[in-house]
Amino acid sequence: MLVVQKYGGTSVGTLERIENVASRVAKAREEGKDLVVVVSAMSGETNKLIEYAHHFSKNPSKREMDMLLSSGERVTAALLAIALNEMGHKTIALTGRQAGIKTDDTHTYARIESINTERLQEEISNGNIIIVAGFQGINHNGEVTTLGRGGSDLSAVALAGALKADACEIYSDVDGIYTTDPRIEPKAKKLDYISYDEMLELSSLGAKVLQNRSVELAKKMGVKIIAKSSFSDGEGTVISDEKGDSMEEVLVSGVALDKNQARVSLRGVTDRPGIAAEIFTKLANENINVDMIIQNASENGTTNLGFTVPQSEIAQAKEAMESFDHDVDGADYDEGVAKVSIVGVGMKSHSGVAASAFTALAENGVNIEMISTSEIKVSMVIDEKFSELAVRVLHEVYGLDK
Ligand code: ADP
Ligand code: ASP
Ligand code: MG
Repeated sequence: MLVVQKYGGTSVGTLERIENVASRVAKAREEGKDLVVVVSAMSGETNKLIEYAHHFSKNPSKREMDMLLSSGERVTAALLAIALNEMGHKTIALTGRQAGIKTDDTHTYARIESINTERLQEEISNGNIIIVAGFQGINHNGEVTTLGRGGSDLSAVALAGALKADACEIYSDVDGIYTTDPRIEPKAKKLDYISYDEMLELSSLGAKVLQNRSVELAKKMGVKIIAKSSFSDGEGTVISDEKGDSMEEVLVSGVALDKNQARVSLRGVTDRPGIAAEIFTKLANENINVDMIIQNASENGTTNLGFTVPQSEIAQAKEAMESFDHDVDGADYDEGVAKVSIVGVGMKSHSGVAASAFTALAENGVNIEMISTSEIKVSMVIDEKFSELAVRVLHEVYGLDK
């Protein structure tokens, strides 16, 4: 039996915790499992390295950022291997490159294109436990790349898929996927199961418990993920498309919150064919991720246009909008907004789900500034100061605490 395990930053955050992970890996080994273990950098390490870079430059080269950031994961991989060897378990630590992970050229946000498993197979045959530094690979020119924040989850899923592992266990500081972030709503309930589509929405909408691209890949490759805690024992949550018969399709399975949102409002936009195309092409060319868009009906030849972008991209968005001064009367930029979302496959076949969310927020004095919906989610942009309240209100309205 081959198992891929992934331990996140908190789980390897101190030397004692690395020792704890080593004991867990050793135990699985003693049960006779072949193991590929993916590790993150120690918690806070990646942020610290980013800060170091910003000490020297506001806009450091992305190639050098990858050189820098990939080092955090290498440290934990080597330390874990040293600890396991000391416990008498043959173990080898590998970088992304040594593990055969090939990516495209997008520095700091690379996509995994393929994995050459030869070295991994060889080490497994030699009886080694393999520790892989997460969050990294190399591109076609042999340059180190990283996979975007939270990317060790993606490394684990990709390795599990390529090796056709029997399981992909993702260990963090929570013992599974909850109906909402248990740090915000202590009444959140752990789910035994969640479908790929629902998990993909939750993680894309702000639940950082799994990186959204890792869920996307798991769905594509049919990798069953089990989310568990590295601090306790328990069944965790299964993320797959194999729902047990006993499980009902719930209306709403979770609430997600994303505080990393900013809103741009353009006033008096000339209402002519092509203006929206120009504005959003400009933003796309600057690699700015636009999320929600609202355009009002035009009055007297002008209209208002609003959209959201990640907070970290607001300065860039502002710069991009300056070139539209002749077509836009004025612009407001608001960083104090958050996006709260409800997700559930049951919404497909029920009406009134969105209405009850709007009513609940209204009754609690929370104004909704923007709305977007899909088949299985409703997202609402609100004032950031109501974030936690909104999460708790929505959690209760759909009976998720029951
Ligand atoms: P790691 O560092 O191991 O990758 P993360 O910090 O990325 O772990 O993810 C775990 C955190 O995700 C939890 O501490 C929890 O606060 C947060 N989280 C957000 N939404 C959820 C949810 N729906 N279920 C469980 N945890 C969630
Ligand atoms: N260390 C990286 C990050 O903090 C990758 C990861 O932990 O998954 O984003
Ligand atoms: Mg994570």
